[in-house]
Amino acid sequence: MNWRNGVVIKSKMELEAMQEAGRVNALALSAAAAIVRPGVTTAEIDEAAATVLRQHNAEAAFVGVPGVFPYPSTTTICVNDELVHAIPGDRRLIEGDIVSIDCGSIVDGFVGDSALTLPVGQVSSEAERLMEATLGALLVGIEQMREGNQTGDVSFAIQSHVEANGFNVVREYTGHGIGRDMHEDPQVPNHGSPGRGIPLRSGMTIALEPMVLAGAPETVIMPDGWAVASADGRLTAHFEHTVAVTPDGPRVLTALETPLEGIRYNQYFVTRPASEKVGT
Ligand code: MG
Ligand code: MG
Repeated sequence: MNWRNGVVIKSKMELEAMQEAGRVNALALSAAAAIVRPGVTTAEIDEAAATVLRQHNAEAAFVGVPGVFPYPSTTTICVNDELVHAIPGDRRLIEGDIVSIDCGSIVDGFVGDSALTLPVGQVSSEAERLMEATLGALLVGIEQMREGNQTGDVSFAIQSHVEANGFNVVREYTGHGIGRDMHEDPQVPNHGSPGRGIPLRSGMTIALEPMVLAGAPETVIMPDGWAVASADGRLTAHFEHTVAVTPDGPRVLTALETPLEGIRYNQYFVTRPASEKVGT
């Protein structure tokens, strides 16, 4: 149902379909995350996600997205200063890098979209704090995904958490409505004011994605025309979940049902707001 400003309200059945797309996407992302280590190439990480999508007869939502040329890969994989949209290739991760993996899946016509940032071996304390602050911003944003709130409440929570930790949110790229299309209305920026924006209503599904810079918020597009990096060359991090507003509160569609062993940021994969434990 098209509600207002192009915002699509999903029925209960559509939400179940989105849950399945989200679940498959979480499996792909966790498979990619599981092989992150020094020496692995970003193309190998991409292939780990692509394999899971093939096993589930899912389509890769990012393939063919228009740009300077159609996007060629299942994931975007960003290292250190790279923030979003970097194409996987023969770059080898080294100890001390941080790597952001973003994946999108289409199952039965619905899209799941989620991302996380991981350390490669031992990383700097700034890198650790940046990743923690970015994950924390996602979690406080999810908590605001409730009927009666507005998109500005979500944006404000994310921005406040990031800035309280001494970092900056990106301005040029935003969270977004998601459903049959990867990008639907409304946009949900990572900065904003409480009580502003679009009212949240049950059946809305939004990909929240704090993109955080250790230094100044300005970004640059790299020479390949796809990758976006911090203008000052400092570290960046990115966490994302696809989240539904329900009568019982926020429901994370891109979480896993069972915790994974031995993976960093397990907390990210098993995100379950307290409100989700009741009801269906
Ligand atoms: Mg994404
Ligand atoms: Mg997204």
